[in-house]
Amino acid sequence: MQGLSRQALRPRDVGAHRPRSVAGVVCPESVGEVRALVRRSAAADRHLYPISTGRNWGMGSAMPVSEDNTVVDLGGMNRIRSLDLDAGYAVVEPGVTQRQLAEALRDTAWMLNVTASCADTSVVGNALERGDGCVRSRVHDVAGIEAVLADGSVVHTGGLDPSGHYLGRGAGPDLTQAFVQHNLGVITAMAISLIPRPQSIGLVHARIERDQIGATIGALASFLRRGNPAEGLLRVRELAMTPGGPGWLLPAGVDAGRFTILGPLLGSGETVSLAEELLRKALVEVEGAESLRVLDAAAVGPDDPLYARALTAQGIPTCHGVQKALGVTSCEQIDAGRFGFLVLLPMMPLQARKTEQIMATMQEAVDAHGTALMVEWNLIGRHQANAVIQIFFDRSQPGADERAHQLRDEAHGLLREHGCVIYRSDIDHAASTVWSGTDTASLSMLHRMKTALDPEGLIAPGRYGT
Ligand SMILES: Cc1cc2nc3c(=O)[nH]c(=O)nc-3n(C[C@H](O)[C@H](O)[C@H](O)COP(=O)(O)OP(=O)(O)OC[C@H]3O[C@@H](n4cnc5c(N)ncnc54)[C@H](O)[C@@H]3O)c2cc1C
Repeated sequence: MQGLSRQALRPRDVGAHRPRSVAGVVCPESVGEVRALVRRSAAADRHLYPISTGRNWGMGSAMPVSEDNTVVDLGGMNRIRSLDLDAGYAVVEPGVTQRQLAEALRDTAWMLNVTASCADTSVVGNALERGDGCVRSRVHDVAGIEAVLADGSVVHTGGLDPSGHYLGRGAGPDLTQAFVQHNLGVITAMAISLIPRPQSIGLVHARIERDQIGATIGALASFLRRGNPAEGLLRVRELAMTPGGPGWLLPAGVDAGRFTILGPLLGSGETVSLAEELLRKALVEVEGAESLRVLDAAAVGPDDPLYARALTAQGIPTCHGVQKALGVTSCEQIDAGRFGFLVLLPMMPLQARKTEQIMATMQEAVDAHGTALMVEWNLIGRHQANAVIQIFFDRSQPGADERAHQLRDEAHGLLREHGCVIYRSDIDHAASTVWSGTDTASLSMLHRMKTALDPEGLIAPGRYGT
């Protein structure tokens, strides 16, 4: 039980959320150690807050939702239990990083749906938060789960078998998604659905004037709704909003006058070419869209500013983007660096006029709070986008963190008036987001599920509602 020694470490948080008292940090390294920990903690009436790699930057990092939890750092459980290179599944433990799984898949017919976050973030932790990869939402990667429940029992969902292999979803109810954005158990393994490595990967890139944002979102929606013959998640990103006065912060090199269309097209040479042609047609009314390029991702060199995105498009994670955005040279510095970073994550409509209205309201909030923000649309499907509203602040400036939090709260209220729901939350709001968006009978069902499996509220109290 060496890994279970309690340490005096206290998690730090780049988002400057409300500080919590932390009872300690423990680091189990096997399912057996997690089960023993859960049983001991239940007997001692201690709350546990499991994390995988704890890099949930902008939403609370490794900090628990409620007071006086013992953080269960599962970074040491880092075995790839199985790789099925015939069917395209990996079964991984929580400490397995994007870097580790991508490396194991090198030169195989499969690749990982990697995020734009650091290479050493957890595949499991990100998927449990419903993160977005560069091919699709990570929700679609989660095929099955192994969890230790509050009574110490070990359960498997979705067709993941106890020997660590994924067999496919058999008949009967599947509770896999009940463990995502929830606190029903400590997740000790996950079956991940991999992406077939395509013959060709085109990297879409265009820089467009800011006043074209509505037209661009509308045009990309029509491209997706008519049918994108290639795979890949297109992003509209770096739409920056700055207030009139001084004192705000944005990552170096961001041009507030323009935004970017960026993302991969994966497929055969033919499907990528056809997708490019259809994309250009869809964007024909957007001023400046003739600047759009589709680069061969494999040919983008290290000196090209698009190199990091070309790597992620090929399933190779990199820390470059994160470090550039947060002004650090190592990801270890992020939670203690000068840059503060918060996110608000609403679903946004794909209509031109609604987009323009929402952006006008956001600009008013930015002016009122004297804090800048950047908006990104992750075009996860044909109905709505997962937006990421990023707020940067200078932690050395008195009151900057408070203004950033006020802006996030105000933006949340304004988005709600526009009918935009939050799809992923943070440690200060995860519970209230669920309460305010769920009817009484459904909340009662969630409560009954939680109390049936975890009557004393041992595991991650407050995480997404219960
Ligand atoms: C510049 C920048 C770019 C980013 N890009 C992206 C992006 O492209 N896509 C994206 O999705 N995110 C992105 N992020 C956000 C974030 O860094 C990632 O989502 C990251 O993967 C989350 O951290 P983690 O993997 O260490 O998960 P963790 O922090 O370990 O887990 C997140 C939460 O899930 C729960 N949890 C984790 N593991 C377990 C477990 N084993 N059992 C039970 N509960 C558990 C806990 O409540 C935990 O707090 C970005 C951040 C920055 C700063």
